[in-house]
Amino acid sequence: MDHFYSDDQRMVRETARKLSDDIVAPAAAAIDRDDVFPRAVYEALAEQGLFGIPLPEAAGGVGLDAATACIVMEEVARGSGAVGNAFAIPVEAALFLHHHGTADHKKLIAGILEGKLIPATAVTEPDHGSDVAAMTTTARRDGDDYILKGTKAWVTFGQVADVVMVFAKTDPDAGHRGISCILVETERPGVIRGKSEDLLGMHGLAECMITFDDVRVPAGNLIGPEHGAFKMAMENFNFSRLMMSSMALGMAQAAMEDAVAYAQDRKQFGKPIFEHQAVQFMIADMAKDITAARLLIHHAARLYDAGHPIALEAAQAKLFTTDMAQVHISNALQIHGGNGYSREFRVERLFRDVRLSQIYEGTNQIQRMIIARQVQKAYA
Ligand SMILES: Cc1cc2nc3c(=O)[nH]c(=O)nc-3n(C[C@H](O)[C@H](O)[C@H](O)COP(=O)(O)OP(=O)(O)OC[C@H]3O[C@@H](n4cnc5c(N)ncnc54)[C@H](O)[C@@H]3O)c2cc1C
Repeated sequence: MDHFYSDDQRMVRETARKLSDDIVAPAAAAIDRDDVFPRAVYEALAEQGLFGIPLPEAAGGVGLDAATACIVMEEVARGSGAVGNAFAIPVEAALFLHHHGTADHKKLIAGILEGKLIPATAVTEPDHGSDVAAMTTTARRDGDDYILKGTKAWVTFGQVADVVMVFAKTDPDAGHRGISCILVETERPGVIRGKSEDLLGMHGLAECMITFDDVRVPAGNLIGPEHGAFKMAMENFNFSRLMMSSMALGMAQAAMEDAVAYAQDRKQFGKPIFEHQAVQFMIADMAKDITAARLLIHHAARLYDAGHPIALEAAQAKLFTTDMAQVHISNALQIHGGNGYSREFRVERLFRDVRLSQIYEGTNQIQRMIIARQVQKAYA
């Protein structure tokens, strides 16, 4: 797809690929084994300026675009899905503050881009996941402060975050029209972090529950309009779903590369297994779907960069890419035979890591609902 990218994008991709090959991929097995936040790798990505790729230069960013951020994500996730996931968090947080924050909030962007100030986002609750509007965490106004009460679940970076963008009800009776986003510094009294979640894959991202036990924050910590955060979150999903799609794509690409190399090397019945048509066909389907996914992602990213709404395109990219990645990484594991089931081979980790991409940033059932609604609207 080289011809498809601009000169800038090709250059950034080379930088990201080199960083991924030199720093990310060699660390991936240890991150998976130790399940500890990979701060050094995270800071190495920050040092290269990668967290600011889609942010305008005037805001301290690199001044490129969402499409280029997707390219970087693919390369980083090709080295490690977990590091790709980690890469998404500061990129999205910086953009969110840039779009919705006050001048004071925007002062945090520099620290996020440098990898020194670690952000997290807390929407999901133990009893309310897909049904975001049903959340019960509240932020009650008290003079010049808000007081937050409730528990958030699955907060990526929860254990290491310095600041959390918490989505909470400021008008509990108003459904999705009563949600606000409030920045909470994790050092504040009443912020209680749970134990690190013990997960199937994507290790090292310090997910945990966070309870806000009457946490008092200044009213100035409100990001965006009061009661207006549901719309902000949904808009944010457009970009974040492209990032998640690119992450799954990078992992699928890595699995295909491993499968092709393995199939050419491994011999059964007197010839490389690549020469058996059943194996060839699995690889042919991988190559086809990986290319299709890349095109869907970049179609959506170009629309996004041109300022168009992309609820449909982002959902299509996320659904197609994460489903195809799960299928083809499983097939890549199959091509490795018994070795695919061993931790000695990268495909085993990819198989576990990629599964998450069908679950978060809106499950793939939710993506189908979004697509169906948009199709219904288009043909009404
Ligand atoms: C590792 C990890 C990291 C995460 N990081 C974050 C984070 O940083 N911040 C954050 O806020 N959240 C985070 N999440 C939460 C994630 O976004 C949610 O898990 C996800 O939105 C699904 O919510 P749920 O788990 O409550 O599942 P549920 O909403 O309970 O869904 C359960 C099942 O029911 C299906 N379902 C639900 N409603 C419908 C419907 N209307 N129609 C059809 N099917 C439906 C779902 O698709 C799913 O298959 C993370 C989750 C994980 C596992």
